Amino acid sequence: RGESPVSTLFPALSTPSAKTALRFGEQSLTYAELADVAGALAGELAPGRRVAVWATPTMETSVAVVAALLAGAPVVPLNPKTGERELAHIIGDSEPALVLAEHRAELPAALETLPRAGIDTAPPPVTVPLPAEPDEEAPAVIVYTSGTTGPPKGAVLPRRALTATLDALQDAWQWTEEDVLVHGLPLFHVHGLILGVLGPLRRAGTVHHLGRFSTEGVREALDGDGTMLFGVPTMYHRIAEEVGGNGQLAKALAGARLLVSGSAALPVHDHERIAAASGARIVERYGMTETLMNTSVRADGERRPGTVGLPLGGVELRLVDEDGRTLDAWDGETVGEIQVRGRNLFTEYLNRPDATAEAFDGGWFRTGDMATRDPDGYVRIVGRKATDIIKSGGYKIGAGEIENALLEHPEVAEAAVTGESDDDLGERIVAWIVPVPGARRPGEQELADHVARQLSPHKRPRVVRFREALPRNDMGKLMKRALHE
Ligand code: ATP
Ligand code: MG
Repeated sequence: RGESPVSTLFPALSTPSAKTALRFGEQSLTYAELADVAGALAGELAPGRRVAVWATPTMETSVAVVAALLAGAPVVPLNPKTGERELAHIIGDSEPALVLAEHRAELPAALETLPRAGIDTAPPPVTVPLPAEPDEEAPAVIVYTSGTTGPPKGAVLPRRALTATLDALQDAWQWTEEDVLVHGLPLFHVHGLILGVLGPLRRAGTVHHLGRFSTEGVREALDGDGTMLFGVPTMYHRIAEEVGGNGQLAKALAGARLLVSGSAALPVHDHERIAAASGARIVERYGMTETLMNTSVRADGERRPGTVGLPLGGVELRLVDEDGRTLDAWDGETVGEIQVRGRNLFTEYLNRPDATAEAFDGGWFRTGDMATRDPDGYVRIVGRKATDIIKSGGYKIGAGEIENALLEHPEVAEAAVTGESDDDLGERIVAWIVPVPGARRPGEQELADHVARQLSPHKRPRVVRFREALPRNDMGKLMKRALHE
């Protein structure tokens, strides 16, 4: 196109350089090349016209998203594994003007026959040069929630939320242009797309995407020029299982500047096994689709297992009791719902004014996550209000600490804890256990005694159910709703 896009979101695209911006397997693009291809594609899009992106973990997906952001066209990332009914819901709800995919053939035939109210089949107007950058309140990305607790809702994220979160993370993680991010996550959630792709690009750093996560891929990338790793707890679990017997992996982890975990709670046992084998301590952060990032352990802060650190710069956080009163306790014990306020928040759920209104308490967003606060402010997430708080025998018990205790048992590979109604107790504690493959299956009484010893007797599971696997989504998140059902 001959001219570089002007972008306050990605300043490095305005000054063409030969530095690597994106690397996917053998493919890579420099900042100058990315400015060129994304700028050209952006010229084909139009401000305000929504673009759905078939978000395979590829270079093309990343370029398409950057192009849409340059053009001011709100992006709707689509999970390529989404089933037909859910896809119909998302397309019908978000009404994109077009769907961008690498190959037309990879799109499900069903996409062509969906009720496409408002979909325009005419080619979009070609606008060169690029339009002025949109207002910071304009929708930039519409991300559908994971659907852990109900049908996915489209969270409308303005540009302001992206810059607020990425700049706060830059500060907390001392993130620089020298950083090369090793990335093995999908690109249709906040974690993989906004933090994992847009984060390094905003910093003028480099993304190195593995395509598919493997411990060997991580080892190789960190032994190369990788400095940071973003992962979800299931990835760190695999690393924890292997690192004790794999000196090369331990050495690669030890050499990384920052290992970050998020999207679900990182079991304390996995944090500790990785630390014991490699010396590397994982930094945990806590965020949501609707709020982007809320808290994190800082790069230079104490890495306390089981905590998600402190509120990020610009984020206000409070704990609220059942009657909506703010709790002042900083005692590591009093549990309340996390509410947050700040420039990192979404503006609304698309087409869901009811759900949007319900989600807010004044200007505060109700996260639905329950937590305690240590005396120095470190936040400990106990679990979700809807599925992880068990009311048993007059106690309110968080599933998370019981899961952590069970995972410390040598014959337990995976554990989930739920509540089930019980005539005597109100709810009884149920443990769902995946035993370590090839090992002896632990006894029910033995597991109950283990929890009673580690925590206290009223926290012991009354029922133990053994399974070969637990229901998890594509991010490895436990789908407790499926267990309940
Ligand atoms: P839905 O809202 O559709 O039910 P979801 O809440 O799983 O799905 P996301 O927005 O992807 O969708 O996930 C955010 C949730 O993930 C948080 O509310 C919290 O429960 C959990 N979470 C994220 N990071 C952490 C963490 N570090 N520790 C514990 N929980 C976390
Ligand atoms: Mg949620």
